[in-house]
Amino acid sequence: MKKIVAKFGGVCMANSVNINKVLKLIKNNKERKIIVVSAPGQQDNQKKITDLLYDCSEQITILGNCDEAFLKIETRFNEIIDFFKLPIFKNELKTIKKEIETNKSKSFIVSRGEFLTAKILAKILKSNFMDASEIIKFKENDELDFKLTYKLINQKLLNLKEAVVIPGFYGQKPNGEILTFTRGGSDYTASLIASGINADIYENWKDVDGVMSCDPKITNTHFKIKKITYSELRQLSYMGSKILHPDTVLPVDKKNIPIIIKSIFEPKKHGTRIDNMCELHIEQTSNFNKSNCYNRNSKYNLEKNKEQIKAITGKKNQTLLTIKKVMEYDEVSYFNKLFKILNDMNFTSVQFYSNVDYVNLILNEAEFNLKRDELFNLLEQLETNEIIVEDSISIITVVGNNIILKNNIIKNICMTLINDDIEIKTLKIDSKGSHIILSVKNENFEKSIKLINRLLFKK
Ligand code: ASP
Repeated sequence: MKKIVAKFGGVCMANSVNINKVLKLIKNNKERKIIVVSAPGQQDNQKKITDLLYDCSEQITILGNCDEAFLKIETRFNEIIDFFKLPIFKNELKTIKKEIETNKSKSFIVSRGEFLTAKILAKILKSNFMDASEIIKFKENDELDFKLTYKLINQKLLNLKEAVVIPGFYGQKPNGEILTFTRGGSDYTASLIASGINADIYENWKDVDGVMSCDPKITNTHFKIKKITYSELRQLSYMGSKILHPDTVLPVDKKNIPIIIKSIFEPKKHGTRIDNMCELHIEQTSNFNKSNCYNRNSKYNLEKNKEQIKAITGKKNQTLLTIKKVMEYDEVSYFNKLFKILNDMNFTSVQFYSNVDYVNLILNEAEFNLKRDELFNLLEQLETNEIIVEDSISIITVVGNNIILKNNIIKNICMTLINDDIEIKTLKIDSKGSHIILSVKNENFEKSIKLINRLLFKK
């Protein structure tokens, strides 16, 4: 019997209709024994439960209660509770409200969506509920305690006889405090569990049928990617794609456990499979230039071959810093000091470019604005000559394999943008040819993606 970890995202749990689809999927396959859930996501114009819980946290700080936001939470959960005839959870909602209003941490408050959703689903399935705090453990300094987490996952989930439902998104510190991952972290919870029990498959169920080559909100000429490697998906996730939490890939990559992304609305469709088959294929091929994961014999062709360039993604609202270095510094010592500053200040995402006189950094704009004064003070101590700040920058990434070695791709992308009067602020290419990262002004973000998409994927 295969060991499947099945994670159901926010839209899957958003209402009774979708939960019924989830139930069918779980009941139809007895190998789906470990179920990880998100809190009910967005539906129609209603906010996600987690967003409403963040509102609760704010209202409690200001008003001492969260009556207004919690009413919306109750309405969402009551639809599910009433449909499945589980009135006992109305009391549970009241208990949760009391708990979150009595000096609990923000992490505790926002974790309650997943907590209650998992409990409800376990009840409907007549299976067990396991609190994530029993297995996902953080250290006192808020870092994940991998060793303890994997040990507990192994102890408690390896030889299950019956299905168990586990809330995603949070874990527990040694002092008992609840701590959440960053937003979307339930994907990561399920990945840790899949890795911990050495699962055969990690299924990630959503409302979309897999990874798309381009954001469908930006262009309607996108297509579904049937297969993608761990490293390509990681690249996409860190560079803006919302498909999976960026930390999801590593735990399963280490064990070579495939991730399958599928839609609860079209469960028979293929979805997207993520594994390292493609990378293995490249390593096994003696002539790297000929390697093509999915269509080995076809000669690469910018117009026809959709398989080598996998996807385009990007993110807006970045800040570009141009730092003029003091010449007396040797490069390595300067970079050492600069990276130490960025690391000590916990910058979560940094793009880095350098030449002999300048260093360019691209940082998340909101994060930069929060930490700006401290960063400037520290950079001054590095005897930096000059710092130029440009806000409202977007990063765009093209991901694929072996892409830069072929057919003037870089030239064509650059020419296409320049011909449309789009200024390219920075450009980075990795030596393996797996991705291109460029930056433009926010105002040119969507237009640039459309142009690159048309250039690379036109039929
Ligand atoms: N509910 C949380 C969020 O909205 C975590 C998750 O869905 O993975 O970010």
